Amino acid sequence: MKIYNTLNKKIEKFVPHNGNVVNMYTCGPTVYNYAHIGNLRTYIFEDILEKTLNYIGYEVKRVMNITDVGHLQSDGDTGEDKMLLGAKRENKSVYEIADFYTEAFFKDFEKLNIKKPSIISKASDNIDKYIKVIEKLIEKDYAYISNGNVYFDISKYPDYYKLVGRDPKELIIGARDSVGEDVGKRNPFDFVLWFTNSKFENQIMKWDSPWGVGYPGWHIECSIIAVNNLGEYLDIHCGGVDNIFPHHTNEIAQSECYLGHKWCNYWVHGEHLNSSEGKMSKSKGEFLTVDLLIAKGYNPLAYRFMCLQSHYRKQLVFSYDSLDTASNAYSKLKSKTLSLINDGDVNDEKFNYYKNVFKGALEDDLNTSNALTCLFDLLKDNEINNSTKISLVKDFDNVLSLSLLKKQEVDEKLSSKIEDMINKRNEYKMNKEYEKADNIRNELLNMGVVIKDSKEGTSYEINK
Ligand code: AMP
Ligand code: ZN
Repeated sequence: MKIYNTLNKKIEKFVPHNGNVVNMYTCGPTVYNYAHIGNLRTYIFEDILEKTLNYIGYEVKRVMNITDVGHLQSDGDTGEDKMLLGAKRENKSVYEIADFYTEAFFKDFEKLNIKKPSIISKASDNIDKYIKVIEKLIEKDYAYISNGNVYFDISKYPDYYKLVGRDPKELIIGARDSVGEDVGKRNPFDFVLWFTNSKFENQIMKWDSPWGVGYPGWHIECSIIAVNNLGEYLDIHCGGVDNIFPHHTNEIAQSECYLGHKWCNYWVHGEHLNSSEGKMSKSKGEFLTVDLLIAKGYNPLAYRFMCLQSHYRKQLVFSYDSLDTASNAYSKLKSKTLSLINDGDVNDEKFNYYKNVFKGALEDDLNTSNALTCLFDLLKDNEINNSTKISLVKDFDNVLSLSLLKKQEVDEKLSSKIEDMINKRNEYKMNKEYEKADNIRNELLNMGVVIKDSKEGTSYEINK
């Protein structure tokens, strides 16, 4: 398999440390709000990567953190703790906020057919481990205490800029504008390992430490959760491109100084989903969540399909028009795959031919759009029988996870209830009683039924 490695800025052959087993770490969410569909684009790409590795014969041990403490508004350790902002916004405790949005995050995973990583670890469950590592970094003189906080001294790690690969002067100018208040830092990019000099007296999550009561910095969480669960050698570390600097840059610095050797060989980053106004955000413009798409009548898997049509290293601009196009293509694809009926024996030669083409696309830096082209070519191929097609679709769907052969299971009683409700709603609409019509739509949504209006009438789909 070949994959683009941000560390060396080129597409490289993937070779794990330990034969058939791949150690993979993916940065998890900061659980102060719902994930937006941009965040979920990154998790879809990571899911495809994990499933591709499985598909080509690797065993993947994948770890993800849940950030419930230490991630400030700016990734460069300034601003307020995001969790605290969430708690204030909703008048709840940080713990309640963390539990609620962690659950919502994994519900989104289910709706998008994203596999849950085998190990998930909450940042706040590992405090003693961060403290041990920070003590070691201070002892080795990589970290220092200033103004009550513990900082990592980036000047002690000459390769600090190796991942970002840009002229540090450019970055330093950028940081000086925003960092200002941290007067105790030796270098503007020195980052916090442990906060005690908290600007936020109302910080609820705090723990005793040799440096006073406080809480860990965001970057140390990922390094330690990774090392603790996957050992000293990591094969793949993923995230979105915004994580390259400073988050992953800092992860590399502290991990390699702590371990005393190179830590991770492949750094793989997904490009962003943008809105037409630019960067997708939870605070500006329409907050695009999976549930919002469902409420608007879209099948979440149409969004997954849309992501797979583009390359993970290309920016993607979200619009409802492009989602409509993807949604129609997905429905057509699914009606084709569902209409296939077994008609004989699987032709091994044809099976292997298409499997190799499909595998080749994925092994080529996860070219999911070529993998989909292979699927469309297969469905168009008149020289191949349905049984072979069904076996291949099933096989491809192990990676694509588009539920291509999954029929909606609706019993008769339920389907007549749904139809009655749809008729009633249409009656209300005709009478311009829109509120009542919307109430029925919401009632259906609560039952997991998504309705879609078109010129031909109202159709519906049942979410899994
Ligand atoms: P966060 O919850 O903010 O820590 O982000 C979770 C993940 O989403 C990280 O891996 C980010 O790199 C990624 N991410 C943030 N914004 C976007 C976006 N607009 N498109 C794709 N991925 C994103
Ligand atoms: Zn991380």
